[in-house]
Amino acid sequence: MGRVAGKVCIVTGAGSGLGAADARRLAEEGAQVVLTDVNAAAVQAVAAGIPGAVALAHDVTDEARWAEVVAETLSRFGRLDVLVNNAGLVKFASVEACSLVDFRLHNAVMNEGTFLGCKHAIPAMAQGGGGSIVNMASVAATKGVSTIVAYSAAKGAIVAMSRSIAVHCQEQGYGIRCNVLVPGAHDTPMTAAALALLPPESAGLGQIQGHGQGRPEDVANLVLFLASDESRQITGTQIVIDNGETMA
Ligand code: NAD
Repeated sequence: MGRVAGKVCIVTGAGSGLGAADARRLAEEGAQVVLTDVNAAAVQAVAAGIPGAVALAHDVTDEARWAEVVAETLSRFGRLDVLVNNAGLVKFASVEACSLVDFRLHNAVMNEGTFLGCKHAIPAMAQGGGGSIVNMASVAATKGVSTIVAYSAAKGAIVAMSRSIAVHCQEQGYGIRCNVLVPGAHDTPMTAAALALLPPESAGLGQIQGHGQGRPEDVANLVLFLASDESRQITGTQIVIDNGETMA
């Protein structure tokens, strides 16, 4: 108990799946959590089960709303220590099938959303003496998956951006760490929807089934570790959690 006691954390996309599990785990270990999601009803429902949690409607593509979410967090709790940039979506399409609209949607929610979150959280964290940013990528950033070209591109950008942000924060002496998680398949509504869409003969489905799905709590434990001071020497790195899906 108490591994993140006294820390104030924002988790995006916390109305479902991994984000909800992250928020619950951080709260269990003593953090004050601000849950945000574009789905206001869903994030309210999750937050209602976490004592002291705050739920905010929040589209991560909206820069003005990011400024409000950070300001609201500071006004309620007086500080910001942890940002988990988790919000995401996936639509299945290969490079030939993907529309430019859908390509830009993935980029806006995941790449731009993560950029905006870091941009607005860093000054608040620096003001409080430091913090930890956890960005959510995917094994799709590191291995070729033909059926999710836009998702892969956005996640790859998050991996590269996270390193740049980590170096910047260190150069500035902010005491802010920035790391990126690279999960394989975990049992969430996103994965269930993906499995339902994929044809049985698909390579993607075979890869997921072959390695078994993790539980959201598996990712949440890693988020907790990166949020806590136990990981104070870890920044600018990517941590893979995929039950061996991408091991050489
Ligand atoms: P999920 O679909 O269960 O939850 C995603 C949440 O993000 C939803 O609540 C949704 O409303 C929210 N969201 C979508 N667009 C948003 C926006 N514009 N602004 C704010 N919130 C928005 O998915 P999940 O499986 O929990 O995935 C969470 C993150 O983990 C995503 O970034 C996903 O790409 C990543 N990931 C998941 C897996 C997995 O196997 N589940 C594997 C690798 C990476």
